[in-house]
Amino acid sequence: MTISIQKISKQENKIKFLVKEINYSLANALRRTAQEILILAIDTVEFYKNDSALSDEILAHRLGLVPLKTDKSFGEKDKCSCKGKGCIKCSVALKLKAIGPCTVYAKDFKVRGAEIIYKEMPLVILAKDQQLELAAQAILGKGKEHAKFSPGLVFYNSYPIIESKGELPKELIKICPLKAIKEEKGKVKIDPLKCDLCEACVEEYRNKEKTKAKYTLKISPSETDFIFTVESWGQLSPKEILIDSVKTLDKNLNNLSKQINKI
Ligand SMILES: [Zn+2]
Repeated sequence: MTISIQKISKQENKIKFLVKEINYSLANALRRTAQEILILAIDTVEFYKNDSALSDEILAHRLGLVPLKTDKSFGEKDKCSCKGKGCIKCSVALKLKAIGPCTVYAKDFKVRGAEIIYKEMPLVILAKDQQLELAAQAILGKGKEHAKFSPGLVFYNSYPIIESKGELPKELIKICPLKAIKEEKGKVKIDPLKCDLCEACVEEYRNKEKTKAKYTLKISPSETDFIFTVESWGQLSPKEILIDSVKTLDKNLNNLSKQINKI
């Protein structure tokens, strides 16, 4: 049994692939470790002026969710030589100043050492003469501590094992909400890569079974093959998220084995 990966679809910020011959534990470990990758996000905001309709707390929360990217190698603030005070080795300073009437966008931030990924992201609307002035500090963190440090979505579902006998009827095509059932060369087929095991077609079969269907249909989840979807928020590519997840998992296990050796 060897692990294999087959690409299903790939976009700039989203990939979908099939992994064969793993198990739930490994699939879950990979999914969870994605939330242990270090990601840069605004952590503290100091408001000098805020006349906007949003309160300081709500606006600060919004700013925390602005995806930031950096090429510089930062360290974690808590583990830095500055002892958590925040220095150029562990944090990025951002400034924002605006006077209404205007919409304040993410691109209005003045920042060095980091890049605003979605520049046209609206932050707040200012009415005439309303002012906003603030200084923020971005640091590295993990998604398991706060969702703003999350690199994206990583999720999976089991590959569907489709067992059927006889010819599937055309009426199943309309029943499938994911349009995974199609007619090919006169035969009705279920595409396992589009199926999410909702069993709408199986239910239709069960209902028909009472009136003696001329076919059988069973869909069950595989325990070894999984369809993974990785959608990035822009800080890392989906591939980088996966590679970093595997590296982090490896690091965690290494640390564990070192500790076990000490026993
Ligand atoms: Zn520092």
